[in-house]
Amino acid sequence: MDKCNSVELLKSNGLRRTPGRRIVLDRFIKSDMPLSAQQLHRKVSRQSNIDLATVYRIIKILLDREIIREAGIQGNVQYYEMACEHNPAHPHFECTQCHKLYCLSPTRLENTKMYESAKSVGDITETIIEFRGICSQCLKKR
Ligand SMILES: [Zn+2]
Ligand SMILES: [Zn+2]
Ligand SMILES: [Zn+2]
Repeated sequence: MDKCNSVELLKSNGLRRTPGRRIVLDRFIKSDMPLSAQQLHRKVSRQSNIDLATVYRIIKILLDREIIREAGIQGNVQYYEMACEHNPAHPHFECTQCHKLYCLSPTRLENTKMYESAKSVGDITETIIEFRGICSQCLKKR
């Protein structure tokens, strides 16, 4: 099994397996790109009548349990992605034209000069590395 199972994941986190939670979590598991609450709502509203407020509530629960993580902000919109073993923390490429967030390969920062110098300043609680530019799809349209 190389992807999480939403039912198992809810169970192991002591969360009730409501249909809404399963549908939202399944979307995150299937997606290879970070999703915003609105995007998620648009996708799940085809299969259930779950409203946006509920999607936000479920996202909050999944965040609290560290099942998903914040992937970055694009145009004031927060994006989320799975935070499981199949999706280790990684930087993102943000396209300034189509506003997509692309996931990049994970990398270990420990022992790099950049990390050491950050550590010499104080305790690191979060590391955010982001690339910005124009993605190849947008470049083709030029
Ligand atoms: Zn997983
Ligand atoms: Zn683009
Ligand atoms: Zn990502």
